[in-house]
Amino acid sequence: MVSPVNSMGLGNILLAISPGHGALTALLPVDILLDLGELAIVVAFALLAIKARALDRGGFLASVAVGYAIFLGGGWAWFVIIMSFFILGVATTLFRYEYKKSIGTAQEKGGARSWPNILANGGIAAVFGLAELAFGGSAFALLYIGAMSAAASDTVATELGLLSKSVPRLITRFGARVPPGTSGGVTELGLLGTIVAAAAIGTIAAVLGVVQGVPPYEVVFVATMGGIVGSIADSVIGATVQRKSVCIVCGKATESLIHCGQPTRRQSGVVHIDNNIVNLLATIVGAAASLALALVL
Ligand SMILES: [Zn+2]
Repeated sequence: MVSPVNSMGLGNILLAISPGHGALTALLPVDILLDLGELAIVVAFALLAIKARALDRGGFLASVAVGYAIFLGGGWAWFVIIMSFFILGVATTLFRYEYKKSIGTAQEKGGARSWPNILANGGIAAVFGLAELAFGGSAFALLYIGAMSAAASDTVATELGLLSKSVPRLITRFGARVPPGTSGGVTELGLLGTIVAAAAIGTIAAVLGVVQGVPPYEVVFVATMGGIVGSIADSVIGATVQRKSVCIVCGKATESLIHCGQPTRRQSGVVHIDNNIVNLLATIVGAAASLALALVL
């Protein structure tokens, strides 16, 4: 079918959306109007998040791009899933924030997420949204819930793990204890957070019927497993290839590129692999795990 956009021509569309033109809605193609409606919804939620100081400006722009791609691909159901992840993340980040700040492990900027964090957690999910839009099918829905489950469980595990009374152990060398907040460090509380968050995303996906042709209990199972596998991958990659540095001013071990206003010196790991890259890789692993598991079941 010829879309209204082609049949009307770009000139007419520009004319139609120019200010002060009468019968605006009559001239605008309906599908474009719907898309603008979806964009408006995403922008409205992102504005709320900025108001709540859960996003900074860069985070706002990245969230709109990611949210819109996901809304276009999967509609409300997919959008509710990424919103659930976001709300879980904000809630656990702000939970006992002052305590985390006092031990130096709180997220910076009052917990407001910036664009690298948004793209690390939602970037691959946005790609799946666009792929769903282009090709459709349950494969992308499975990849999407796996990625979201991994992002949610990793974020919740990190934030809850920081509150653990027991000292984290390194996932790759279980005898070794590391300071809270160290990438690759795991605690029982963090593991519990991983499972609960992954199961929550899986349950929401099942209730919303996000994956066509797969029974709801199986959706919960593959999403939960995707989240757990992604979260474990995050810890293993964090413990091994993630860049670990030391501050050249105060001498503290850090994972930041900047400390005390100066670039840090790398001690181990790969130069460009920071926490955000590790998160992105973990969401890809979680997505692949969910799809693979659904294929073998
Ligand atoms: Zn320092």
